[in-house]
Amino acid sequence: MKNWQHILNQSIIRPDDLPAKLNPGNDDLDKVTAVYPMRINPYYLGLIKSQGDPLWRQAVPDPQEINDQICLEDPLDEENRSPTPNLIHKYPDRALFLVTSQCAMYCRFCTRKRKVGTSRMVITKDTIKAGIDYIARTPEIRDVLVSGGDPLLLEDEYLAWILGALRRIPTVEIIRIGTRVPCTLPMRVTVKLAALLKKFHPLYINTHFNHPDEITPQSTLACNRLANAGIPLGCQTVLLRGVNDNSEVMKKLMQKLLLIRVKPYYIFQGDMTRGTNHFRTPIETGLSIMKSLIGHTSGLAVPTYAIDMPGGYGKIPLLPEYQKKSGGETTFTNYQGLACSYLNVR
Ligand SMILES: *Cc1c(COP(=O)(O)O)cnc(C)c1O
Ligand code: SF4
Repeated sequence: MKNWQHILNQSIIRPDDLPAKLNPGNDDLDKVTAVYPMRINPYYLGLIKSQGDPLWRQAVPDPQEINDQICLEDPLDEENRSPTPNLIHKYPDRALFLVTSQCAMYCRFCTRKRKVGTSRMVITKDTIKAGIDYIARTPEIRDVLVSGGDPLLLEDEYLAWILGALRRIPTVEIIRIGTRVPCTLPMRVTVKLAALLKKFHPLYINTHFNHPDEITPQSTLACNRLANAGIPLGCQTVLLRGVNDNSEVMKKLMQKLLLIRVKPYYIFQGDMTRGTNHFRTPIETGLSIMKSLIGHTSGLAVPTYAIDMPGGYGKIPLLPEYQKKSGGETTFTNYQGLACSYLNVR
């Protein structure tokens, strides 16, 4: 079997090189990739069945990306909340640490589209060292989210260096890795990588699947290796128009994730990231999907639906309405829509 580096090197990076049946034949796509890079590796390409399908939409550039008049360059205000380059300290006890600009695929809806995979994202050994120093002198940070880009695109030794340095900081309790690799390049999760990662417990991984067709024998094997290394796995799904913006697809995805031992963690409302407006859905769509999950399937399959607010205000959870207050009385509705009551105490 070919190793993951080899598979990654065979990625398509020019729209012209798309196979004819997946190529929309639009000359403007080169203008898109001049701003927002394209990378589709042979594994993920092999999962795409036809133009316009949910996996195609995530991977193939769209002219609408460079015609977005509504969204913002840096909606989460990350650049202003970075005490050192590539380290975002927004919440009291945790920090987001970007350690690479590379990904196994460049998702068209990426929140950090402004820089991921481009020369606008400058990450060096020095910026990583500066981040580690900041975390070491900021004891309130007890949870470090290692992200990017995709940290699992780093070579084993380099990743081990970063994780080792974080683990040696006594005030760092939890290390999390955010990675789409189990979905987009599952062969990266080698036996050796799983053995390496388990040295840094308590280590959590949040991965990122958006559609049931992304759950394959290969991604199942990758998640099994990680779970067998004792790593709790979560999933951060993004709600995307034309990909997963319906209850049946989302329920199937959540249920299939549990079968590969991944606990759905978040469904994110689409961020207001410039170049991704065409992927956004109304908030009502997300609420109605949540309503179709809650009570109708295992609680394990129900993540938190959240919006990461523009302006850097952070994540806000959203729930369908199950209670109504009027004149000191609260009335409730269950998952079937049946009215019910509870006598409160003071
Ligand atoms: C999402 C995020 C976190 C982690 O939030 P959790 O709700 O703990 O998963 C931390 N820092 C930043 C900047 C984030 O965007
Ligand atoms: S893997 Fe994550 S960081 Fe990379 S392009 Fe996709 S969404 Fe963005």
